[in-house]
Amino acid sequence: MFNREQLKQDFCTLLAAQSQKTPETATPYEQHNALSAALMAQLAQNWSKTRSAAVKKKCAHYLSAEFLVGRMVYNNLLSLGLLDDAQAVFAELGLDLSAFEEIEDMALGNGGLGRLAACFLDSAATHDIPLNGYGIRYRYGLFKQRIENGAQTEIADDWARFGDPWSVRHEDEAVLVELGGLTVRALPYDMPVIGYGTNTVGTLRLWQAEPVQEFDFALFNAQKYEQEAEARNAAFAISAVLYPNDSTPAGKKLRLRQQYFFSSASVQDIIKKYKAAHGSDFSQFAAYNAIQLNDTHPVIAIPELIRILMDEEGLSFTEAFGIAQQTFGYTNHTVMPEALECWSGAMVKEVAPRVYEIIRMINEHFLRTMADKGLRPTSATVKGMRLIAGGTVHMARLAVYATAHVNGVAWLHTELLKTTLLKDWYALYPERFTNKTNGITQRRWLALCNRELSGEITRLLGSDGWVKNLEELGGLKKFADDKQVLARFNDIKRVKKQQLADYVLQHDGFRLNPDFIFDIQVKRLHEYKRQLLNAFAILDIYFKLKDGTIKEFTPTAFIFGAKSAPGYDRAKGIIRYICEIARLINSDPAVNTRMQVVFVANYNVSYGEKLFPAADISEQISTAGTEASGTGNMKFMLNGAVTLGTYDGANIEIVQEAGQENNYIFGARVEEIMSIKDSYNPRALYESTPNIRRVVDTLVDGTFSDGGTGSFKELYTSLLDGASWHKPDHYFLLHDLNAYVEEKLKVNREYNDRLAFAKKCFMNVASAAKFSSDRTIKEYAGEIWGVGK
Ligand SMILES: *Cc1c(COP(=O)(O)O)cnc(C)c1O
Repeated sequence: MFNREQLKQDFCTLLAAQSQKTPETATPYEQHNALSAALMAQLAQNWSKTRSAAVKKKCAHYLSAEFLVGRMVYNNLLSLGLLDDAQAVFAELGLDLSAFEEIEDMALGNGGLGRLAACFLDSAATHDIPLNGYGIRYRYGLFKQRIENGAQTEIADDWARFGDPWSVRHEDEAVLVELGGLTVRALPYDMPVIGYGTNTVGTLRLWQAEPVQEFDFALFNAQKYEQEAEARNAAFAISAVLYPNDSTPAGKKLRLRQQYFFSSASVQDIIKKYKAAHGSDFSQFAAYNAIQLNDTHPVIAIPELIRILMDEEGLSFTEAFGIAQQTFGYTNHTVMPEALECWSGAMVKEVAPRVYEIIRMINEHFLRTMADKGLRPTSATVKGMRLIAGGTVHMARLAVYATAHVNGVAWLHTELLKTTLLKDWYALYPERFTNKTNGITQRRWLALCNRELSGEITRLLGSDGWVKNLEELGGLKKFADDKQVLARFNDIKRVKKQQLADYVLQHDGFRLNPDFIFDIQVKRLHEYKRQLLNAFAILDIYFKLKDGTIKEFTPTAFIFGAKSAPGYDRAKGIIRYICEIARLINSDPAVNTRMQVVFVANYNVSYGEKLFPAADISEQISTAGTEASGTGNMKFMLNGAVTLGTYDGANIEIVQEAGQENNYIFGARVEEIMSIKDSYNPRALYESTPNIRRVVDTLVDGTFSDGGTGSFKELYTSLLDGASWHKPDHYFLLHDLNAYVEEKLKVNREYNDRLAFAKKCFMNVASAAKFSSDRTIKEYAGEIWGVGK
């Protein structure tokens, strides 16, 4: 299909046409747009072939409010098998492909949930599973983070300002969405999802909201002009930002409008395509379509499908409900009750009046079904399950009741759903519940981001088959005692650490020592993820080095990266605190030859591609029972880091696969957390344990400055006194702190036996097969959707 000469010619022609420049005068963005356009032209045929083939078979549709796809160009070159060719072409032209490092990420998501969606599309395309992604084309993605004077500041992410060469706008496939008095056009922008080593090119369709009518200045008087301008702004606002601030009613309403906007547009699109292929007989709809709801954000698609089938296609409620139930599947991503999405019925009524009526019908249907089972509507059980209760619509309940499949995202998570959060539902419908442990694509998270280790793996296995079939990694196990192999593994790790150190210096102005252990915690900033626990442990080690309690210590660089939600003050306080610890330690000559601490700014997919391969230690320290799965843990494992973590989420399965002896597990398990919950007394721990007291007191004793925000005192209070909405230290930091420090010191000691430690890391790589999203997506395809081979 492609050859190097053709690529070069297309690139130069497009560059001249688009920017009127020659290769040497073009900016990286201009080069990027021309190369991307050249590739888009080349893959167009396979893309349209994949589309037409999809018409005849059952397809799955993945509805997600987030797709965290990252930077596309390198990954797409890899998928097309053109990475080396493009490098060569650029070299011939006197250019450097690494100039694209400055191309911004496409960050239409927050973290794990959006990245999962992106990995799933990659895996589906690679394995010829018909799967379409549907989401929102936010004008502004997740904010860009700067760290200024030790605090997070946010910058708007106008990601498409230099163009968006990987999307195609389909004017002819626009649909209208009625949002309670505001009608908007949903414009689809399609991105190709290029399968690796196959001709399949899947589609991620992102909807952009626009006003219905072109603005016609001639028609308007001044007053009408203003009204029209307002309506236009309201339309554009719908797809303007990822997660608008929902602390005001207006912000809440905008979020609900976003959800309904993309759910309705996607369902309309699916129905339109079904009718084009099969006419108006909807009895086969579920035989040709499966719709997966990634968390509750798109759950409103269920009543929307029912609405269209009833009001526009003339089906009865019973028929429409039956079809919906066979079509939809729901993926739950949290066990924390406070994180379950609810909407006031009044607001749903305002945004989508008819949909609210349909939800009421589903609720009535639910109550009748319960009555048939002998459960009275007034019973406590039924009250706790009502889809609409006290004027509030419960999205997760709607999702469980109106779908045939509900899944959790790791073994422990699914078990907790069945025994706690959704236990009444599980009792009624056990057959609906399944587990689908999350995964990551080894294309981006190993083949692309760690070409050195990839090359070595391919050499050892004698084939690069693992890029499409991660099971083959198991073949590495026989090298786990080969000293030369382990030494080479260490050499590669050192190279990746040097590369990260170079990048951090350039990006964050901090000089990491690549001969230190790299201990990395990168993920969104959340209390439950316990970055503060890590900070306390580092500080405890610091004090113990100072006072001589710890004598032997392998020099370690502690690396953090995390964005806090802009309105999450406590999380922002934790960032400040970590930066203060970094300032103290890095400037203390008594310790800074043995410890470094850095908080890198703007952790995102592209930064992750540098961080995961460079880690010796993967920090996965959430309170047991709080992290549904985690996928960062899998990226570290695949790149050969040991996990230092709690028995939580997919950590459990990681340890199961790679062996207890090759990882470091500490702290309370779920059962213990549950049993101590009511009697837990962190203040007693604080008062009776001097080293704990010493670190916690740094929040209030003047060791550090919070810039006058009061945020450190607030953290202190939250741990020892709690707050109106939670008990003291509700994530059990103080409970786990000493066990954690002990385990941190154990890894630190064991690291010194360089070959023994390399073996642990290597065994993690060799045992990572299960965590390929190829495995996950095949499970969804086979057990939930009934699509593919
Ligand atoms: C993988 C990934 C995540 C998820 O990390 P967790 O540690 O599982 O929370 C978040 N953000 C980015 C940029 C990622 O690549």
